[in-house]
Amino acid sequence: MRIGRFVKRIFLIILPTSYFLLPTSNLYSYQLKYQGKSYTIEEKKINGYSYFKAEDIFDCFGFNLSYENGRLNLKYKNHSALFIESNPFISIDGRLLNFTLTPEIDNNDLYLPLIILNSVLKSLKREKITKKENGLIVSSMRPRLSSITIDPGHGGKDSGARGHYGYFEKDAVLDISLELKKMIEKKLGINCILTRKTDVFIGLGERAKIANDNSCDLFLSIHCNACKDRSAYGAEVYFLSPAKTNWARAVEARENASLKYEGKTPEASVEYILWDMAQTEFLEESSTLCKYILDALSKIAKRRFVSQANFAVLRSTYMPACLIEVEFISNKEGERRLKTEKFKKECAKHIFEGIKAYKKFYEKKMSYE
Ligand SMILES: [Zn+2]
Repeated sequence: MRIGRFVKRIFLIILPTSYFLLPTSNLYSYQLKYQGKSYTIEEKKINGYSYFKAEDIFDCFGFNLSYENGRLNLKYKNHSALFIESNPFISIDGRLLNFTLTPEIDNNDLYLPLIILNSVLKSLKREKITKKENGLIVSSMRPRLSSITIDPGHGGKDSGARGHYGYFEKDAVLDISLELKKMIEKKLGINCILTRKTDVFIGLGERAKIANDNSCDLFLSIHCNACKDRSAYGAEVYFLSPAKTNWARAVEARENASLKYEGKTPEASVEYILWDMAQTEFLEESSTLCKYILDALSKIAKRRFVSQANFAVLRSTYMPACLIEVEFISNKEGERRLKTEKFKKECAKHIFEGIKAYKKFYEKKMSYE
């Protein structure tokens, strides 16, 4: 999308003046990561301040920029914003905002400083951009958690781990997830979407897609742990990143083995670049979320750790996400507990407590920004 020939003409007329008014110099490009894709965004110094090529950023967010009657109009769904070159007043959804820096056109392209870009993004998408080294990080500014995807691991032909007495991971995690959904909806008023409500098989990519399509604020994948050493017990919570320990790699391999039911090999589908694109935006929030959940779960299960691993199911979620291993089904006592309604309800209750604590943290953080 171009700004228009009209601008070009105006620009040519004012070129001699603007040449002196707007000394520009190219800085370098930034990688903006958004919804699993990476975009190159050019930065320029205009009048000594850092500006970004606005059209490229607006393209990433699906905004539509057009030039009419000397004004730059931005449209997104039922929102709009209006810029005028070198004018400190910007209208966003009819509200007039006054900035110290002004929108500038250089070489036919609209350039905006981060402060203006973020005002627009905040109003139109409830998101904001932060500059970090050579990357532009997009994060959510939604003031409240309004929807959560709960993902009961495995299902159907993929039973997950199996206990000594024959109890399946897929059955335990479905019961916990159904209970958790009820609690969150009733007590926190947050809408919960389940990736499966019955004993059916769902591919790992499809689970992430359900969360993304519903623009959820959190993604929780619920599992039971298993280990050859049947004496191991307790709860672990993971967020996405390359595994750092042999144990994390072993848990990752076991959970990613679900891919074989989709005719994929875990190794072939380990696209290490993808996790980076989708989840780096949320590393901090995901790790905080894990910590709150493990703190709560450790009241009913031995506290093991929060760790990082490359789980296929988390790889393409565009929101803070974690994978919870509530207890070891491979441990005889663990399996016995998991079979009882009482323990499954306790698990749901404590995961719920973790979410509640995270919600408080998140909404406090948002209210300060
Ligand atoms: Zn599992």
